Amino acid sequence: MTAGLAGLPIRDELRGHTPYGAPQLQVSVRLNTNENAYSLPDEVVAAMERALAATLRDLNRYPEREAVALRAGLAAYLGHGLDASRVWAANGSNEVQQQLLQAFGGPGRTALGFTPAYSMHPLISTATGTGWIDGRRSADFGLTVSDVVAQVREHRPDVVFLCSPNNPTGTSLPLDVVSAVLDEAPGMVVVDEAYAEFRRPGTPSALELLPGHQRLVVTRTMSKAFALAGVRLGYLAADPAVVEAVQLVRLPYHLSALTQAAASAALAHADVLLDTVEAVKHQRDRIVATLRDYGLTVADSDANFVLFGQFRDQKAVWQALLTRDVLVRDVGLPGWLRVSAGTPAETDVFLAAMKELV
Ligand code: PMP
Repeated sequence: MTAGLAGLPIRDELRGHTPYGAPQLQVSVRLNTNENAYSLPDEVVAAMERALAATLRDLNRYPEREAVALRAGLAAYLGHGLDASRVWAANGSNEVQQQLLQAFGGPGRTALGFTPAYSMHPLISTATGTGWIDGRRSADFGLTVSDVVAQVREHRPDVVFLCSPNNPTGTSLPLDVVSAVLDEAPGMVVVDEAYAEFRRPGTPSALELLPGHQRLVVTRTMSKAFALAGVRLGYLAADPAVVEAVQLVRLPYHLSALTQAAASAALAHADVLLDTVEAVKHQRDRIVATLRDYGLTVADSDANFVLFGQFRDQKAVWQALLTRDVLVRDVGLPGWLRVSAGTPAETDVFLAAMKELV
């Protein structure tokens, strides 16, 4: 017998922590990690197969280190006058955010986020030695200009995380809140837009604010709307100097040749892949409306998931859904659960189960 982890000279701030991760359970209706419920269309599978096959013989060589062709494709997809010099890619937006904290956070520095928001922001901060400051939201999970300005002024963080649409609430941030943070914050402002493609019409992206704001970074991912969670491809858009900064901390050849080929081939078929977005949004809106009909409180959502409650014991409801073969997410917010919008059939099963439970 060894003393296990406690017997190792692990960093103090990691002691007692458990690895992040939602349960990966074998159930028929998996609505707990905000994946895209649709598998890839044949046309895209075929294109990715061809692209991957073309790289195989040369896998004895390291990949293109700066992934310029992929970054150019991502920039073209984003529009807004972006080019490869303003876009950076890594293994999921999680790795992008880790690189940002390695470059702009770290020991002796702080990052501020507004809880509840994406739970990896504090975890990546801790892992990079960046002090985490848990900012507040109002009871309805909203975030106003005066809320954010007061907290940024109080803490003067090196990095501010904003999440829009916010996970787990689903709400988008008005651009005046992002602008106010940019005006007040002394350091970098990272807007996590992992769910941007699911926004309702008229909801702007922080990409619009990039011109003239050198400290603004917008992170995106192919894990959600593009249905490519398994590929692990996230990216950022920012000033070229931000791309230079993350290149100082990235590991050489961090994006495998297979990842670059798969992501580029998928991007070339972005229109086909993104066809599922409208279907997902439709199910999301159906979940919001139906759960409200059932008398529940449901946050408006610009994402591919819905936060709903309030339950006296959300753990009991989570368990009761699991008993009915439906897996949703307990995000650790007392009284609330989060469900991803699935296919129409998956949504039927979830809503029928909820009808029994309320
Ligand atoms: N940001 C937010 C808000 C998320 O919810 C997620 C995934 N759950 C991510 C980033 C990370 O996505 P990925 O690393 O797959 O790009």
